[in-house]
Amino acid sequence: MGIFEEVSTFFESYRGEKYIYGHSEEGRPLYAIRVGRGEAVGISQYSIHAREWVTALLGFEHIRRGVRKGSVWFLPCTNPDGVLLATEGVQTVSAPTRDFLEKCNICGDFSLWKANAKGVDLNVNFPAKWGKGAENRFTAGPESYVGEFPLCAKESKALHDFTLKVQPQFTVSWHSKGEEIYWSFHQPPLRRARDKKIALMLQKTTGYPLRDAPNSVGGYKDWCIETLKIPAFTVEVGRSDLSHPLGRDSLGEIIQKNIDAVARLTEVI
Ligand SMILES: [Zn+2]
Repeated sequence: MGIFEEVSTFFESYRGEKYIYGHSEEGRPLYAIRVGRGEAVGISQYSIHAREWVTALLGFEHIRRGVRKGSVWFLPCTNPDGVLLATEGVQTVSAPTRDFLEKCNICGDFSLWKANAKGVDLNVNFPAKWGKGAENRFTAGPESYVGEFPLCAKESKALHDFTLKVQPQFTVSWHSKGEEIYWSFHQPPLRRARDKKIALMLQKTTGYPLRDAPNSVGGYKDWCIETLKIPAFTVEVGRSDLSHPLGRDSLGEIIQKNIDAVARLTEVI
């Protein structure tokens, strides 16, 4: 079974509260699964970068593990078209999109693709110093294209709108690879101290060090920190010596190191 099919099957068979918060550029559903009871304290989102699809499988384990306070919305696959491109190739998109993508990616191999089906990198498409990043690109392609304007991509707009609706107290985004945690985005000192304390807890539970990336902008985490003023984290799972895309064989170690992270976040928030 392909990864997106696995995500769809998981969603369909999930018996608790669930919601389709939007659709991708190619019309695929964007799934959200609620775990726990009461106030929605967090959002945990996965696979926004296509080739990092292994994180969706980590999402299933987080859902099975559960939370310790309130409830968390889990979004196992925030870039379904991209994940299908990266795992099953260009035949998974509609004919006009296929023509466009074949021009963007002349080599024809999509296994390292990060963007959505329009060649927009969703994690630089958020309104948080948009377009000012050191590695931003301004033409469609496999990665780092910021889009024509902030939230131009259906997937990032849907994630943005869903987050505003939920009003979480924290968000956590799962990426690969490198085994590190990003937690800062130009917070003023008080919020920086608050967020670092929570980041240090994440460091303790995962064993991953904290990092700063001041020239990286326009991400979901960046927007959550800057606009919602909540603690927000990007966790890069998987050892840096592994090659992209990380496969199922890396999952055991990833789960072992990260299984408790979301549940712990609900305790300390
Ligand atoms: Zn990523």
